[in-house]
Amino acid sequence: MELLKQRILRDGIVKEGNILKVDSFLNHQMDIELLQAIGQEFRRLFPDPAINKILTIEASGIGIAAIAAQYFPGSKVVFAKKTQSKNLDGALYTAPVTSFTRGTTFDVQVSTKFLGPDDHVLVLDDFLAKGQALQGLMKIVAQSGAKLAGCGIVIEKGFQEGGRALREAGVNLHSLAVIDSIDGGRITFRDED
Ligand code: 5GP
Repeated sequence: MELLKQRILRDGIVKEGNILKVDSFLNHQMDIELLQAIGQEFRRLFPDPAINKILTIEASGIGIAAIAAQYFPGSKVVFAKKTQSKNLDGALYTAPVTSFTRGTTFDVQVSTKFLGPDDHVLVLDDFLAKGQALQGLMKIVAQSGAKLAGCGIVIEKGFQEGGRALREAGVNLHSLAVIDSIDGGRITFRDED
């Protein structure tokens, strides 16, 4: 997605430890016009009319999913919670996730009220690195008995192994920008699908 790539080149900041900071437009301050274009692109890549749930993970995925949902009429957004809370009661789907940015492992949880065998789920997230977050969300979809329609990622770091492993496993995965390298602070992209 050319608009996104140009924005990454203009405003993305490469940090130590293979981290790309995009907090001026994606996951701290959010550029809503760009997010609308991202939502439209996800719709183009995932035209399945059966999609009725968009599943993401708090916090950064929520804004992306909520805006994308406008292009999936009638769909609901469900976000997996990372923290235990008294508000999260009743039966839960649970999967462990190791955070790429924090290095810690925690459980992500979704109430069984909001996903079930009748649902067709599109999983969305901001970044794909080693694939832990997506794997956790896909485990939750599997536990619920819902059908996984696909996984959409805004920025995939193609030099980390997550995307390759998921594609090899046959997951319908589309990333709007795939970064090949951030070596020396210089960002280069792979041709998109
Ligand atoms: P994975 O689970 O695929 O290893 O990492 C994906 C998760 O880690 C995403 O949910 C995202 O929040 C975070 N993440 C991974 N790499 C980056 C990065 O380069 N920049 C930012 N801002 N977040 C990242």
